[in-house]
Amino acid sequence: MSKADIGLIGLAVMGENLILNMESKGFTVACFNRTVSKVDDFLNDRAKGKNIIGAHSIDELIANLKRPHKIMLMVKAGQAVDDFIELLIPKLQPGDIIIDGGNSHFPDTTRRTQYLESKGLLYIGTGVSGGEEGALTGPSMMPGGSPAAWPHVKDIFQTICAHTDAGEPCCDWVGENGAGHFVKMVHNGIEYGDMQMICESYHMMKSIGLSNEEMHKVLSDWNDGELNSYLIEITRDILGYKNEEGQAVVDLILDTAGQKGTGKWTAIAALDAGMPLTLIGEAVFARCLSAIKDERVMASGILKGVVKPFSGCRDQLINDLRKALYAAKIVSYAQGYQLMMAAAKEYGWKLNYGGIALMWRGGCIIRSLFLGRIKEAFDRDPELKNLLVDPFFKDVMDSSQESWRRVAVAAIETGVPMPCISSALSYFDGYRCDRLPANLLQAQRDYFGAHTYERVDKPRGQFFHTNWTGHG
Ligand code: NAP
Repeated sequence: MSKADIGLIGLAVMGENLILNMESKGFTVACFNRTVSKVDDFLNDRAKGKNIIGAHSIDELIANLKRPHKIMLMVKAGQAVDDFIELLIPKLQPGDIIIDGGNSHFPDTTRRTQYLESKGLLYIGTGVSGGEEGALTGPSMMPGGSPAAWPHVKDIFQTICAHTDAGEPCCDWVGENGAGHFVKMVHNGIEYGDMQMICESYHMMKSIGLSNEEMHKVLSDWNDGELNSYLIEITRDILGYKNEEGQAVVDLILDTAGQKGTGKWTAIAALDAGMPLTLIGEAVFARCLSAIKDERVMASGILKGVVKPFSGCRDQLINDLRKALYAAKIVSYAQGYQLMMAAAKEYGWKLNYGGIALMWRGGCIIRSLFLGRIKEAFDRDPELKNLLVDPFFKDVMDSSQESWRRVAVAAIETGVPMPCISSALSYFDGYRCDRLPANLLQAQRDYFGAHTYERVDKPRGQFFHTNWTGHG
């Protein structure tokens, strides 16, 4: 067999599927795994008869690669990545490329890029989204790191990734250092928000008496319109799914949500950047609240909501929910983009915002029709400050607002928690407000801490203090 185009370390589900994807597109791949017996297991099973070279040591892996050597790590994020980097460094040559395709935190990728470049090597940290299915058939990929590495892997990445219906690859260069993993992190945060908002809509529909079958039908209809997306599609299927005993599996599942931490990273990055990423923050906290199940069961026996049963028109509420979900989703992406813009400024990245929407257009969990609209908005104005002020999205906000407000009112009156959909409305109202009550807040800060304030009738940058109590 000729030498391999790329080597991959890490034969768990993601690594194996990416190798099979690459091989199916005509690339020869060499592979290695810490537990070496898994190499033979793979060769004798899923890799049998394919252009896949199994290596039993790192030396053997490198000896089987074309130059410059390109080695992709698909191992557990964290220490395992650093450990493999240390094992590889002494065996690589200047210009060789290490790629980390795991869910690494972006500051780690920045550190690793700088470290490897200081050794004459090149580094890529790439987000890979779409789970195991995406890895096998075409994921969304978000690579960043050493720009000089990109031309060497571009063909492989843009061939194995997902493609839009128009044939555009859902993978492009994102930016230097940790930019790729930053964008992947924001993607995961958006995923948290999208999922939570669908769950809030489900909660509301359930509370007004819709059966799973009826909700299955509602989601089928929604998927035919502007909400068309992978997450709406799988939720539709989940609501229609029954086990062999004829039970709806969704009703059997305990209501405590897990998380691996990428949503939390996004919320922390937003707090660090001072960006109002309220919706994703609420989505993370909603999972936290769900996780304290025993406490909620205890509280449910003590705290009685003073609520009204829903008395409006069911069909109108369902229609309002669709519009509210769409409007809140736009807010979530607007906030996510605000965060990426702030990070680009701080880290000196030149992010291609329309290109990012295109990368998420296929292959990944948040893929949706709507991402095409974001791409169009940045095509119209590459300097767009906020998605909400783009003419298309402004029109959606105008036409959805009444419905959105009715949903928020119904949620409050009936006692259905809707942290994401309703906080998105608060953000919208705050963002479009030319005078917030922060004048009073500044007065409070000046009162107790002499923090000073600027005045509406004086140039910005001049600071004033009032002796509020008259005491010396
Ligand atoms: P994983 O369970 O995260 O990791 C298993 C792989 O890591 C195995 O090859 C394992 O080797 C290796 N490994 C674990 N600890 C190690 C250590 N201390 N030193 C060296 N190697 C170590 O596998 P995965 O689910 O396929 O995910 C791979 C990466 O992709 C992760 O970063 C994950 O977060 C990311 N990712 C996963 C998904 C998904 O849907 N699963 C989606 C997107 C991204 P052994 O066989 O020797 O234990």
